[in-house]
Amino acid sequence: MNTSSSASGHAVAVSNPYGHSLPSYLQSDQLGPWGVYLQQVDRVIPYLGHLARWAETLKRPKRALIVDVPIEMDNGTIAHFEGYRVQHNTSRGPGKGGVRFHQDVTLSEVMALSAWMSVKNAAVNVPYGGAKGGIRVDPKTLSRGELERMTRRYTSEIGIIIGPTKDIPAPDVNTNEQIMAWMMDTYSMNEGATATGVVTGKPVDLGGSLGRREATGRGVYTVGVEAAKHIGMDVSQARVAVQGFGNVGGIAAKLFAQAGARVVAVQDHGGSVYREAGLDVPALLAHVAKQGSVAGFAQAEVIAHAAFWEVDCDILIPAALEQQINAGNAHRIKARMVIEGANGPTTPEADDILQSRNILVLPDVIANAGGVTVSYFEWVQDFSSFFWSEDEINARLVRIMQEAFAGVWAVAQEKKVSLRTATFIVACTRILRARELRGLYP
Ligand code: NAD
Repeated sequence: MNTSSSASGHAVAVSNPYGHSLPSYLQSDQLGPWGVYLQQVDRVIPYLGHLARWAETLKRPKRALIVDVPIEMDNGTIAHFEGYRVQHNTSRGPGKGGVRFHQDVTLSEVMALSAWMSVKNAAVNVPYGGAKGGIRVDPKTLSRGELERMTRRYTSEIGIIIGPTKDIPAPDVNTNEQIMAWMMDTYSMNEGATATGVVTGKPVDLGGSLGRREATGRGVYTVGVEAAKHIGMDVSQARVAVQGFGNVGGIAAKLFAQAGARVVAVQDHGGSVYREAGLDVPALLAHVAKQGSVAGFAQAEVIAHAAFWEVDCDILIPAALEQQINAGNAHRIKARMVIEGANGPTTPEADDILQSRNILVLPDVIANAGGVTVSYFEWVQDFSSFFWSEDEINARLVRIMQEAFAGVWAVAQEKKVSLRTATFIVACTRILRARELRGLYP
């Protein structure tokens, strides 16, 4: 088998035994998010037993679609945006995963995010494969009308592969309930029938689920509390630092603060703020809702971007973008526990550094699975047109997160591996068992 040496020096398998090398965009030479994912898969292969025979399935997306998204701008010019929808794996059910609007979105990033969705959905045992989508755009530069036209054209373009039983998008970075409503409406118009189950994360007035908006942050908080019990940490006394103060980071910060923890530092795209006595999280949320960033929040000190990673804290929650914790800053992190709210925030090198420093990492593929879990509830409610109470939803969410985390913790202890590798073992075993049972067509 050919191997290439990645930036971190890890050998990454890049070919199958029949001599058909993976094409360059599937290889990990630049160690972007897809390369990171491939390394994570390589780490789990030795634990897959006879299922390792199917492991190459995990290293290729099942289907990847690139679409041109042309729209007329308000000033009469025509702008073209590049959009993607990748279905990494559908062995266990329809594709499922968010849609990201960001100026740095690439096919490689969407591939990695789709693959992490396959792993995540299997880790919490919801009956989905993994998918992800995105548009390479800074949505802050668009008017509301431009944003709606772009969203609708993108939905129409990917309409050939999405659907309530095929692939169900959801919100991710810079997408929200309104965007899901436009996606649902566009798909429904093309189909000639209202199809609420085509996306999740919709407004509650449109087939959305109570508790969905808070679900990812609530899941982050839930696994944090469970892990804290194992390492003897009192969450009510903990100091917390959060990068990313959007849907995931903002809610997680709120829940930790409600539990008595002190949220001492928050960083977002606009700046970093610090207060040793604990930031007033509701006031900071209100400030961000008005100003768009934590920058300018009066009741805090401003700290430098790099200083955020050195903040004295017990729990660090990266909840923004990928590869934020890397070889450059992992040595300086003071937390005892890192809870990955974001997808792919820690590079494999940083993972090793954190492990060697005895810092517990709760990996994305379990820690931020709360969102997709309630998305699953939303999809089930849409199909049955019967809606549950918020208490019922939260109770089911917490139970699924606790059970999934306990299972992963037990595997990590038994096999003496990190929680990330343990989650991959649990999830990849489920995916490949389904693959094996289905067999190959034809
Ligand atoms: P969001 O758009 O609501 O918030 C993103 C936050 O990240 C904002 O506060 C933004 O200012 C900050 N940010 C952006 N660029 C930054 C930078 N360079 N440095 C520091 N901060 C930066 O997005 P979200 O839905 O909260 O998603 C955040 C992460 O969580 C992403 O990795 C996403 O894939 C992951 N995630 C989201 C969900 C969900 O249900 N929304 C579920 C699972 C995982």
